[in-house]
Amino acid sequence: MQKADIIAENLRRFRVDNWSEGYFSINEAGEVVVRCQGQSIPLTNVIEAAHNLGLSTPFIIRFPFLIGEQIKKFYRAFQHAKEEFNYKGEHKAVFPIKVNQNRHFIERLLHYGKDFSYGLEAGSKAELFAVLISDIPENALITCNGFKDREFLDLAVIGKQLGKDICVIIESVEELVGLIDIYRRAETIPDIGFRIKLSSRGSGKWEKSSGEGAKFGLSSTEILLAIDLLKEHDLLDRVNLLHFHIGSQITNVRTMKRAIREAGVIFAEVAKLGLNIKYLNIGGGIGVDYSGSKSSSLASAEYSIEEFANDVVFTMEDMCNKHGLERPGIVTESGRVIAAYHAIVVTDLVEIMGAEYDLSHYQQTQNEVKPLLELKYALEYMNEKNYIEYYHDALEFKEDLRTMFTLGLCSLVDKSNGDILFQEIVEKTIAIALRKGENFEKDPFLRKFLAEKYLCNFSVFNAIPDSWAIRQLFPIMPLKHLDRPCDNFGVITDITCDSDGVVNAYQFPDTAENEYLPLHDEMADYPIGIFLTGAYQEVLANKHNLLGQMNEISVDFNEEGKLDVVSSEQGDTVKDVLNGMRYDDAFINNQSKRFFQSMDNPKLFRRFRSYLNSYTYMIKDGHD
Ligand SMILES: *Cc1c(COP(=O)(O)O)cnc(C)c1O
Repeated sequence: MQKADIIAENLRRFRVDNWSEGYFSINEAGEVVVRCQGQSIPLTNVIEAAHNLGLSTPFIIRFPFLIGEQIKKFYRAFQHAKEEFNYKGEHKAVFPIKVNQNRHFIERLLHYGKDFSYGLEAGSKAELFAVLISDIPENALITCNGFKDREFLDLAVIGKQLGKDICVIIESVEELVGLIDIYRRAETIPDIGFRIKLSSRGSGKWEKSSGEGAKFGLSSTEILLAIDLLKEHDLLDRVNLLHFHIGSQITNVRTMKRAIREAGVIFAEVAKLGLNIKYLNIGGGIGVDYSGSKSSSLASAEYSIEEFANDVVFTMEDMCNKHGLERPGIVTESGRVIAAYHAIVVTDLVEIMGAEYDLSHYQQTQNEVKPLLELKYALEYMNEKNYIEYYHDALEFKEDLRTMFTLGLCSLVDKSNGDILFQEIVEKTIAIALRKGENFEKDPFLRKFLAEKYLCNFSVFNAIPDSWAIRQLFPIMPLKHLDRPCDNFGVITDITCDSDGVVNAYQFPDTAENEYLPLHDEMADYPIGIFLTGAYQEVLANKHNLLGQMNEISVDFNEEGKLDVVSSEQGDTVKDVLNGMRYDDAFINNQSKRFFQSMDNPKLFRRFRSYLNSYTYMIKDGHD
């Protein structure tokens, strides 16, 4: 095959064009590139830059310009839909910072969102604090969701006093009581929103975020109580927003349309009761097509951002017509679809585990048990005509041998010999199948047998915690050598001492291939990228095995308008993660001094102490 054909084949196999939104591709040297506005940069260059800065794998590469691209796409989709359906209300977006609170991320989001008055949403005290010290554009909105104590409410009031356009979206009547209390002292009150409980549910993994039994929102009775309370304090005019959020990663838009229609009924009813609602906040939930299958599976989304915006705006227009309402502003709180693309995790191969042994390891014995003799026979006499039959027989003989071994009827040497013969039979089967042009990859057993464990320097629990927690899927692929065919099957395994530290699903859902990744039989210098990790993963990351926060490097448009490395950040050291588990510096110092005191070996002590500054992940060739 020509190089170009191999590259095309690899693009297809890893489904790059399906999940990457055109941001990633493979260049003619077989390297993965990120591209934007006619420029592109191979990730291997970024990896080299990271190494030159003394940052080793695993690390996060951030591409803040991709936040910008997604914001533009998102905003334009709504603008276009508004023109298309002649919708007179405005569209305002806020970013829910629970999706990624990292300061570098938020700063770049605000930078790229400035022209679109992109605002922020906070769901806790600390999040609101971060929001209040961020450079939010003049006329951007701040929304506060989640359960709020008096301190949280007070922070929102302070935000209002600072002159921010801030809306407290209340989850309960109790919160409103608290807010009014503070108002009586501070004489200022932010805008108020009602989170409403809809009976329509979302779809997919997070459908329980809405519906009658949902954790969030005011019931009809509570809405009436809240209105009474506000009337009593002459604050009815402060309510300007209704909010719902039907859950993340909505798999089809129909559920969103249904929710808007239901919210419309409530809208019309509260208007009759004297509320002057300016905004309908439809929450977030736009799905990211992690698997690139454009399907209703949990790791996918059937619709594009454009389709979503069209459906939302059309339904809003239709709903307002039906109830004779003025067109409210549409507030969106999409997080995942804005953030996911901007980050990838780079790990690299430590070793391929589960080495195969060939006939040179066979140990001839005096009395060989029957299944062994059968396996020998099968190996010797299998040919193009009978190979499938012989292969199936071999499966049985192997099983017989295993049973005999468990019952103590054969030795460890017999067992080892059997494994070796079986391995040879599988290889011969594949060789014959290939020669006959048959696709052996279809046989799940053969594939499983062939799949090798690719031990990679990272932690599933830290890099892609959702892969472990909810079996969320992330596209994974090697970052170079893609001008060579991937003729191995691998399972990505991390360095934690946890059998769950394995990636079990890849970007090929609904195909038999989804449990294994096509990879090269390559050892040295084999970087592997895990894509679309920019949403939720960084904050859900945990320090299982005390493998900590990863190194980071950012690539963005520099002052000359060129894509280049613009900043970097160290990950956790041994000391950092120990501190996090309450081994404070004083304790570390006292204890280590105590143990080394009697030894009188300052050199050894220094060597020991130096490891406090080590990166928590594996370092190639150790440090010196
Ligand atoms: C989490 C959350 C969002 C963001 O949802 P995405 O699926 O990331 O778009 C928006 N609004 C609220 C209230 C949320 O809790």
